Amino acid sequence: MRSTWFLAPRTQWSWAMALLNDMQPHTTPAPPEHFGRLPAMSSAAALATFVPRVLAFVALQHAVHRAWRPLPLPAAVLYWSVAYQVCVGHAATLLLRMGAKWGFFDGARPRDKVPDLMTTKIAAGILWSCVVRIALGALFLYDAAAPVRVSLAAPLHLFVFAMALDLCFYTYHRSCHEVDSLWAIHKTHHLTKHPSPALGLLADPGQEFLEVILCPTLATLATKRLFPASFGFYEWALCIICINIMEVLGHSGVRAHLPAFATGWVFGVLLPRAVLTIEQHDLHHREGWRRSTNYGKQSLFWDWLFGTLGERREGRDDNVDWSLGLWDAVPAGHTTPPSA
Ligand SMILES: [Zn+2]
Ligand SMILES: [Zn+2]
Repeated sequence: MRSTWFLAPRTQWSWAMALLNDMQPHTTPAPPEHFGRLPAMSSAAALATFVPRVLAFVALQHAVHRAWRPLPLPAAVLYWSVAYQVCVGHAATLLLRMGAKWGFFDGARPRDKVPDLMTTKIAAGILWSCVVRIALGALFLYDAAAPVRVSLAAPLHLFVFAMALDLCFYTYHRSCHEVDSLWAIHKTHHLTKHPSPALGLLADPGQEFLEVILCPTLATLATKRLFPASFGFYEWALCIICINIMEVLGHSGVRAHLPAFATGWVFGVLLPRAVLTIEQHDLHHREGWRRSTNYGKQSLFWDWLFGTLGERREGRDDNVDWSLGLWDAVPAGHTTPPSA
């Protein structure tokens, strides 16, 4: 994957290159290679970091609804597309800061950048995939006259939605790896061995259809069927934004123990081996080609159940400093090789 576009002067960049660079600067010096034990963030802390922004957008719409008028469907799609970009963009920015601070897995190798030939496709994908996802959910669930609020059952919705989506994802993902005729759908995504957040969108149209339309639609229908009264548009919006923040996390490679928080708050207690962390999707890219492990993207439950679970390396439990948080200062010696 040749990637040199960011070396040209900014005045020669297309709109897509400018957007990609603003979201994920390519001029940041490479962070030092880290060797110390990994910092950790719990699922609860991750939820507390990422969910309040979503709730703020619900509160703002609630205020508009009460003080002025309900938002019609097109306005709601636009409003929640902006909310999605703000919340997922905040997560990406935060992770880049954490990467610069704590380093990346397989840290001697640089993270891959958006290829020269795909800048427009990936920048456009960042914009259109968000609008399509929101529009689909709105078509199924949005009711302008309904009260603007989030049910207390939202954590349960989030877990069920993530698990339903992950089952769909696991099925298609593993099939693409193991069935010769389906590999073409997924092959492009594996051109990156050390992904960075924008490369979550490195995909062919078949994969985009499955991930942007089919899997979220099936998860939406399944969750609505299970919770017909309490699962509405705002609970769904919380789910879809959290799911996509995890997509960004999974492609960040940040050298930290950070769990897939939509499901991690349950599996952390009931089945720790089913907790997916950043490193496992990183290993899926680094070492996976036709045969791989860690096919899930919201949990490792289906991998655990069907025997495709891959072990963590740098992030194994005995190499995590559970008392060291991502916000803490980097301890002295963290960038020094253990043998020095
Ligand atoms: Zn794969
Ligand atoms: Zn991936």
